[in-house]
Amino acid sequence: MKIFKLLLAFVLALPLGAFAQGKLNVVATTEDLGSLAREIGGDKVSVTALAKGYQDPHFVDPKPSFILAVSKADVLIVVGRELEIGWLPPLLSSSRNSKIQPGANGYLDASQTVRILEIPTGQITRAMGDVHPLGNPHYWLEPGNGRRMAQAIKDKLTELSPGDKAYFEQRYADFDQRLAAGEKRWDAAMAPYKGTKIVTYHRSWPNFMERFGLNVMGYVEPKPGIPPSPTHTIELIEEMKRQGAKLIVVEPYFDLKTPQAISNQLGGKVLVLAPSVGGTKEAADYIKLFDYDIAQLTLALKQVTGK
Ligand SMILES: [Zn+2]
Repeated sequence: MKIFKLLLAFVLALPLGAFAQGKLNVVATTEDLGSLAREIGGDKVSVTALAKGYQDPHFVDPKPSFILAVSKADVLIVVGRELEIGWLPPLLSSSRNSKIQPGANGYLDASQTVRILEIPTGQITRAMGDVHPLGNPHYWLEPGNGRRMAQAIKDKLTELSPGDKAYFEQRYADFDQRLAAGEKRWDAAMAPYKGTKIVTYHRSWPNFMERFGLNVMGYVEPKPGIPPSPTHTIELIEEMKRQGAKLIVVEPYFDLKTPQAISNQLGGKVLVLAPSVGGTKEAADYIKLFDYDIAQLTLALKQVTGK
């Protein structure tokens, strides 16, 4: 009985947080970040992703449920590089959650340690369209960057829950291994098509196409974020003819009319790829996203190149 009382006194003296803590509440702005957080956090975290993978991540309609999720978050993971600038700041202020404001411990900008392309050097003007001054924010579409993002998530979760360090390390090592195996598969599948010239609708794919050896020679958008114009479309068709490009990659949230019209002129092909986890049901997690996109892409490349 005495021992019991002693134990009870000991338990009561422990900080409440040790018991109340439970799982870390992680909110991710996109499903890609959500998937990586699940990979690393496992059953030590509960993850909510805000934007769906089939939505344009530049323009997301903030739902009331988003504010609730952000208000309860212990960690907020963002893509950064101004991708969410149109919809995240009001959510952050409405949430009244000081833990996850920029600069606070619970705020993680996943772009800080990744490789960013297309960082503008000169002055940015409106005439350039919706150019991101901090570089292209679609950097998650490259497995090397996925690994860097997972590492940053591991470090942040460890900082907030140091007792689970070994658990997060082990999950990271496991993810790293599966990702490396994936890279071997994807590189082998893409090898025959190295240097093939293609067109994409938006500048969503510079990291992806560079990594897998394709050459993006033009865009359906005349400028980032600006809808297709007849003048630009005619020029693009001429340029594609000249350079022998036949494949047009389109994100699921864009109108297929212009890409289809271009493709008809060239006897080419329009391919809708998933730019994010959840962009299609097969792209259920970060590794499956690449499995899906590479399978679709190689199928289409085979048709247009005859290789
Ligand atoms: Zn963009």
